[in-house]
Amino acid sequence: MDIRAMVLLGAPGAGKGTVAEALKAATGYGHLSTGDLLRDAIRGRTPIGVQAAAFMKRGELVPDPLILALVTEYFDRAGNGRGYMLDGFPRTLAQATRLDDQLNSRRARLEVVFLLEVSEAVIVDRLTGRRLCRNCGANFHIRNIPPKVAGRCDHCGGELYQRPDDQADTIRKRLEVYRRQTADLIAYYADRQLLQRIDSDRPRDETVADILRRLRVLDPQVGARS
Ligand code: AMP
Repeated sequence: MDIRAMVLLGAPGAGKGTVAEALKAATGYGHLSTGDLLRDAIRGRTPIGVQAAAFMKRGELVPDPLILALVTEYFDRAGNGRGYMLDGFPRTLAQATRLDDQLNSRRARLEVVFLLEVSEAVIVDRLTGRRLCRNCGANFHIRNIPPKVAGRCDHCGGELYQRPDDQADTIRKRLEVYRRQTADLIAYYADRQLLQRIDSDRPRDETVADILRRLRVLDPQVGARS
């Protein structure tokens, strides 16, 4: 068992994607974001994308069989890197069990689950101000992480857009889905002694530095490459 896996857990807008992006270089872990995979599938009009689109638009969870197909494909493609960073997956207890199976079959083990905690007022502000790059998927925020050139991605120059599910009504629905379906995972991982709570109500760099400090305790190579 030498491949490490970590989960980023938290409500929509808690900062999972932003933190994952910042951690990528420092950890060298592969980044699995089921939300990104779904958005790619919708853009590519694949059979999974076509089926998932309506659920996402309503702010509901996409059915497990579709998610598990995407996740299995990701792991097959990613091969055996030095670690995995899971963002937005698992979102239900059933998915958590399937994740355990996937990791076991790849000689990987889940070492830590970071729960990003943030107040609801901050969540709504983050989601309504969020902008994504249409080309590379990078995350921005109109005030907190503004692009250097308005409407353009700092990394690739792609066009920035607002996710259709980042509208007020859908945000409320997604928060309700989180409380009803995903929050159970907090107790599940706390019982397994894997949960670490992170204050994500701070500027991104402070949150990332806090996570990196904790990761280094588990994996001394983290940060050595950044
Ligand atoms: P995210 O980018 O993580 O905020 O996900 C956006 C949307 O994709 C969610 O509101 C769900 O509709 C869907 N989604 C992403 N990940 C999952 C998952 N693990 N299980 C079910 N639905 C998901």
